[in-house]
Order: sequence, then structure tokens, then C-alpha cells
Amino acid sequence: MNGQGEQGSHDGQDASAARTARQAFAHARRVVVKIGSAVLAPGGELSLPRLEALCAQIHAARQRGVEITVVSSGAIACGFRVLGLDAPPTTIVQKQAAAAAGQLRLMLAWEKAAERHGVKVAQVLLVSDDFVDRTRYLNARRVLGELHERGLLAVINENDTVSYDEIRFGDNDALAAHVAGLVGADLLLVLSTAKGLYAHGDASKVIAQVEMDGGSNAAALSQHVTKDKTVTGVGGMASKLHAMGVASALGVHSVIAGGTEPNVITRVLAGEMLGTHFSPAPDAPGAAVGSRRDAWILAGVRVAGRLTVDAGACAAILRRGASLLPSGVTKVEGRFARGATLDVLDEAGELIARGLAAYSDEETRRVMGKRSSEIEATLGYALGEELIHRDDLVVMRRA
Ligand code: GLU
Repeated sequence: MNGQGEQGSHDGQDASAARTARQAFAHARRVVVKIGSAVLAPGGELSLPRLEALCAQIHAARQRGVEITVVSSGAIACGFRVLGLDAPPTTIVQKQAAAAAGQLRLMLAWEKAAERHGVKVAQVLLVSDDFVDRTRYLNARRVLGELHERGLLAVINENDTVSYDEIRFGDNDALAAHVAGLVGADLLLVLSTAKGLYAHGDASKVIAQVEMDGGSNAAALSQHVTKDKTVTGVGGMASKLHAMGVASALGVHSVIAGGTEPNVITRVLAGEMLGTHFSPAPDAPGAAVGSRRDAWILAGVRVAGRLTVDAGACAAILRRGASLLPSGVTKVEGRFARGATLDVLDEAGELIARGLAAYSDEETRRVMGKRSSEIEATLGYALGEELIHRDDLVVMRRA
């Protein structure tokens, strides 16, 4: 990471580069705004004035031609008291029940707030499978496009009631980052009770800009994470940083800013230095992905396994964008079916590519290290010469 100074102490080149980067937000055309539970429903009580203030700013941005998609948390926070609980639930089943009760109330509030501006809202509930399955992914994108075409404001949440443990996003920061990839956003704005990423957890020092570098700065960033969740807050800073990493890999800029700061959306979209800006590395794989399909592979909502490759295969993938053949694979990890998303690692364990498996883990284990011409004799059939075909492989690192 490259922390570019704290707010209030910008000087020199870094600060001016950070400012210039922010000014580009005034031209953002497509923005995902994620609003945290603790912003909308502090202590489990929905704050209509806050929702109304945010909605008014969203409306103003839409009037300027900015396409906005909202990811709104708060279903559980708005619902647990309805269940008769005094504190946010901790068990999955109670969270699901609270979300069932709260989602309705949350959306009624959104409708009421949007109505004042003559804006119609639509509720879109997604689960992680909607991102894993390509057909469902395309479908979700089509629906969001149609809603936008017809002038509706889409308000997305995870379908908490039906998403159970292993398949949950669990926090809307990750969901919002994937939605940003889905709609092809220029900017993801995450509004939380924290005013940004605080230097070493010190709330008086908001880091103005962080240049992401494709994942390896995660450790450097984690020094700023403190366990500072509010009562109704779900994600916390660690999950936000993870989400910023996802957005950045997809080539999307993101900002974490205080959801209760006056006019926060308007000011961030005007390029004001509020909160922390996470800028994708110029060579982020997402910045150069050849197609929307590549972006979907890259998003890798559920990576089912990992293949380690030798130096020759690594060079062929990085330099020539070659397919991954069985001969180059030295290690297979995980259990996966054909079509699953796999990470490809070099010998040092660094992620170099992500792609779709042509063979199951069991088949892959049997043919690894062999020549492609031996696949048929080994398995009794062959589905192709590659373990991951180049069309299904997205390179994550420059040669
Ligand atoms: N989907 C959850 C809710 O609406 C919140 C998850 C999150 O805020 O990260 O209550």
C-alpha cells in the first residue's frame, strides 16, 4: 500500500495526485452506494431522517445523469426488535428471521423516502449463487439494467432469509463490491459509521488514499484494522478492506466514508477529499480484462480449488496467455467439479491467474504432470487437452 497522508495534512506531490484522482469522481457515470446497517438503523431503530437525507442526495446525482445502484443493509437491524429480541441476533436462524421481518420495513422506508422525489424503488435480493452461476449472473445484470432503463432505483440486499452459512456473503461490503463488478461501476461508495480507514485505528487520522496493488498489500493494510464494530454494524473494517480488494481487482475505485457526514454522497461525487479512496493498481487485472466474461471469472465469488504450476507453465500463462496443460501442474488442492473457479498459483504460492476447471479435482489429480496426449489413456476419455482453456483463464499478474 501507499498510504497518501492523513486528512488535514496533505502536502507535496502525493496529496496533489490524491486530489486529482478524486476529481475524476465528478465524471463517474455509474456508482454503487452501499449503506451500512449502523448508519441506517443505529441501535436497531431505523433512522428515517438519515435515509431521507441520503435518498435526496442519490436523487440529485441521478438527476445529473449518474446511474446509481444502492446496496442497503439494515434488514436484520430493522427486524430483530420485531421478533421480540433486545439485541441483534447471533444465531443464523434468528438473523434470517430478523431479516425476513426487517427487509419489508427497510424497503417501506426506502419507498417512502424516494417517493418524496417522485422516484420509484425496486427491491433486488441476491445470494452468492447469483454471482457464481453465469446464467444467473447475466440474468441479475439484465434485470438491473431494465430497472434502470425504466427509471427505477434498485435497492439491493442479500437475501438473508434463504442464504445459509457456507453460501452467504455474510456482509454487504463484499456483496456491494461484486455488484460494482456486475454493473460495471466506476465507483463503489461504502457509507459506514467509520469515516474511512483510520491510521492504526486512530479515528482522528483518516487515510486519504490507498493505492491497491492487486492483493499483496493486504498485510500492510491490516495494521490499520481494529475490532471496532458498532452494535448493529455487520462488516467491520476487515471485511471492508477485503471488499475494497475485490473492487480493486475488478478495476473499480472505491471510497469508504462516514454515512452520517452531511451531504456525504454529493461531496464524494464532487471530488471532495472525504473518507478513504482505494484506487485500483493501474495494472489491476480488472482494468484490462478483455470481456465481461473475464470480469465474471475474475470476481471469483467462490473459488473452489487451487492449482500450483511449475515455472514453465507460469511463464507460458503470464507471457503468452497460454492454456494450462496437465504437464505444468504440480499440486492440486480442493474439491471441485468441472466448471468450478480455480486459482492458479506459481511455485512461490503467488496468485497468477484464475480460471474455470475443465476437469474435476479427481480427474485433475490423475492427469497432473502428464502430457495432454496421455489424458485419454489415463481417464479412459478426454474432454480436451487443457486443464484450464485459455478462453476460461484470466491472468491476474503481469509477466
Ligand atoms: N444483509 C444484512 C442486513 O441487511 C447486512 C449485512 C451487512 O450489512 O453487511 O441486515
